[in-house]
Amino acid sequence: MNASFNAEMLILAREVRGMTQTELAERSSIDQGRISRYEGGIKRIPLDEMQVLAKTLEFPMSFFARDGKRLAAETGDVFHRKRRSLSAVQQKQIDGLLNLYRMGVADLLNQIEFDPLYTIPQCNLAEFDSNVDDVAAAVRAKWRIPSGPINNMIAQLEEASCFVFAHDFGTDLIDEAVQWIEPTPPIILVNTRSPGDRLRFSLAHALGHLVLHHNQLPHPQIEEEADKFAAAFLMPAEDIRPELTTVTISHLLNLKPYWKVSMQALIVRAKDIGEISERQYNSLFQMLSKYGYRKNEPFSLPTEIPQSITDLLNEYRKLGYSNAELADLVKVNVHDFEAWFQSDPFPIRLVQKPKRSAI
Ligand SMILES: [Zn+2]
Repeated sequence: MNASFNAEMLILAREVRGMTQTELAERSSIDQGRISRYEGGIKRIPLDEMQVLAKTLEFPMSFFARDGKRLAAETGDVFHRKRRSLSAVQQKQIDGLLNLYRMGVADLLNQIEFDPLYTIPQCNLAEFDSNVDDVAAAVRAKWRIPSGPINNMIAQLEEASCFVFAHDFGTDLIDEAVQWIEPTPPIILVNTRSPGDRLRFSLAHALGHLVLHHNQLPHPQIEEEADKFAAAFLMPAEDIRPELTTVTISHLLNLKPYWKVSMQALIVRAKDIGEISERQYNSLFQMLSKYGYRKNEPFSLPTEIPQSITDLLNEYRKLGYSNAELADLVKVNVHDFEAWFQSDPFPIRLVQKPKRSAI
C-alpha cells in the first residue's frame, strides 16, 4: 500500500471535502498529529488507517495512489481582490476541485482521441502595442467568430479545447476558476450561483488570462488586462459602437438580451470606447442603483451548459462503460462521479422582470 500512497492526494481529498486537519481527525478518530505526519510524507501510513481515512473522506483507495501533485489555479489570487476575501478553506476546496477535474479529464482522454477545433492562442501584449482590444480581435479572427455578440461563451471555450464544469462554490465571491497544466487541456470551473451575464463576462475574463498571462509571471495589471480583454471579446468596439450612440436605461434593457452582457458592462464599454462622458457614466450608474439593478439586473440570460465532458463520457458509454466503471476510471466514488461529472448542475433560475418605471 505505502509504495503507492501519495501524501498529496490525502491533502487533496481533504481539501476537496472542505475539511481542516482538525476536522478530519475528529471525524476519523485518528490523531491529528498522525494525520499531519501522513500528509507531510514523514510517517508511513498503516493500511488500516488509510482505509479509515479513505472511508471518512469518501474517496476510493485508488485515489490515494494517484501520481502528481496539487497545483494552484491559473492566475492564483495574488492580484484578485475578490479572491482575497474568500476563506482559505473555500479557496482550497475550489483549487482542489480544479485539480480533481484536471486529473479526471486526463484519465478520460487517455483512451479517447481528442481533437478540438481550435486551441488557445498565446499572445504577448507587447507585440500588440499593449492594445488588448487588438488581441481580442485577433482571437476572434483566429476562431472565425463573426462580428457581433458571442452567442455561447462556454461553447466557444469548449471549441478551443477547454473543459468546463459547473459547480456550486458555496459562495458568490468568485464566478470561475481556471487551471491549465499541459498537456491536459484548460479546466474551467464555473459557479452555478453566478448570474448568466456575470458568468459570461467572467469566462471571457478567464480566457483573457489564458491568452495573455499563461506561463507568465503575474503582475499587478493582469486583472485589468483580463477585464479589458473580456469587454473587447464580448463587445468589439466597431460592432457595438453604433448601438451605443444613445445610452439610456431602457435602451440598455433592449441591448442586454442581444449582446448577452450585463447593463453595467454595456455602460462601462460605452465609456471606454468614448461614446459617453464620465458624467453620463456616473448618472447611468446612479439610475441603476435607484432601480436596484446594481445588485439584481433584470433579464436573466439563458443558462449555458457545458457539453464537452458529456460528449467525452458518451464516447465511453458507446464502449459499454457503466457509471461505476467510469467512476473507477476517474478514481472517485459513483455518487461523486454522477454529481461532478455528469449532472445538470444549474438549478432553474427565476427570470426577473424590469421595473415598469425603468422602461
Ligand atoms: Zn482574473
